[in-house]
Amino acid sequence: MTGKGRTFYIAGAGISGLTLALALAKFGANVTVLEHNPAVSEVGAGLQISPNARRILDSLGLEEAIAANSLEPTGIDLYPPRAKRPLVTLELGAIMRERFGAPYAVMHRADLADALYKATGRFANIDILFGVRSWDTVPSARGISLSVEDASGQTRSLRGDALIGADGVHSKPAPACSAAHPPPARPRRSAHPPALRRPRRPHRPRPRLGPLRSQLPRRLLSAAPPPADQYRPLRRRLRSRRTPRPRRPSPAAPPPRPRPGHPRRRRPKLDPRPLYTVDSPSWHQGNIGLIGDAAHAMLPFRARGAAMGIEDAAVLAPLLINEPNAEAAFAKFEALRRPRVERVAKVSGSNGKIFHLPRPLSTARNLVIAAQGPRGHLKRLSWLYGHDVQP
Ligand SMILES: Cc1cc2nc3c(=O)[nH]c(=O)nc-3n(C[C@H](O)[C@H](O)[C@H](O)COP(=O)(O)OP(=O)(O)OC[C@H]3O[C@@H](n4cnc5c(N)ncnc54)[C@H](O)[C@@H]3O)c2cc1C
Repeated sequence: MTGKGRTFYIAGAGISGLTLALALAKFGANVTVLEHNPAVSEVGAGLQISPNARRILDSLGLEEAIAANSLEPTGIDLYPPRAKRPLVTLELGAIMRERFGAPYAVMHRADLADALYKATGRFANIDILFGVRSWDTVPSARGISLSVEDASGQTRSLRGDALIGADGVHSKPAPACSAAHPPPARPRRSAHPPALRRPRRPHRPRPRLGPLRSQLPRRLLSAAPPPADQYRPLRRRLRSRRTPRPRRPSPAAPPPRPRPGHPRRRRPKLDPRPLYTVDSPSWHQGNIGLIGDAAHAMLPFRARGAAMGIEDAAVLAPLLINEPNAEAAFAKFEALRRPRVERVAKVSGSNGKIFHLPRPLSTARNLVIAAQGPRGHLKRLSWLYGHDVQP
């Protein structure tokens, strides 16, 4: 079936929203994305693109952009706290392509968002309204009606088939989807890798690094997450460890100048963020539905946030086109996706606990991890990396 003559509104130009815009536009549907930021956000850090998410992105025409801006790690070193040598190196690289038909990649969130945004430029039927000041749904007998105050302050009245909230943990349409929608939860024991601004140059594999050794698992294993009330001290410790204290110049001396050939490196701004989870009892109501973090934000200890949003988009787009109406599409989407989402959320949560076990449980954990060996994860996680979204 074709989506010609159908119109969908998506709130949020994040990874989930932009992927859904591309997937719907491929069917010929008209898509308008409402984004309250003035541009695609440059903030973020590394995202995991699992082989199954990569296959979806490739099918949307992103193969080259991702290959040019991502790293394909050959392995992940898992370090226990203070250890000089890794417990095990989990094999990635060629074996991932071989087993799951696509590479396992690591990419800066901003580069992925940028690649998706550029890909939307190939479709005349995608319109992205950046800097939207406010928007609201207006009651309507059929479809969805919206009143949108755009960046210039003009109010537009829009009508279409459905609205999809891909607007993250503080989703605006989420409460409309479930009377019992709980506010995003902020677990007490949590930590987040610092959010870094995108470097000016795109990430490229650097040969001098040799095989990429991911720092994320190391960080998670070695840095016990602080309880929420210790968040500020951690921040201070990070800052003081990383930022040299500025020397007070003597009144007579001119300010120190960078030595020729040794330009001073700009230090990225560390911006630790709290983690939120969303566990909504319903992801849809009438012609309004939710995807990505808006529906099911999860802890990052399995690094699945972006991949789950990408999977959501690939499942929902054909349903919105092929089902008799948006309500039926959202209902089927939820029935198809909920079991997997809940399984992944559970694994992400228990991984967080396992990563941060105290002694002596951590010693037992280390023995198990070492015994599983460099390829143990391939079998254990094949349901995750090999998942095919087509029902
Ligand atoms: C700035 C940022 C940085 C991140 N960095 C990382 C990272 O480094 N590593 C990692 O694993 N995950 C990161 N994440 C989370 C990760 O991107 C998500 O878990 C995953 O991509 C799924 O996201 P999403 O598209 O569903 O929601 P989000 O990524 O949260 O995107 C939601 C989008 O909706 C917009 N929005 C919010 N409210 C409204 C509204 N009312 N109206 C219109 N637009 C709205 C937001 O500006 C944003 O563009 C980051 C998320 C954000 C927003």
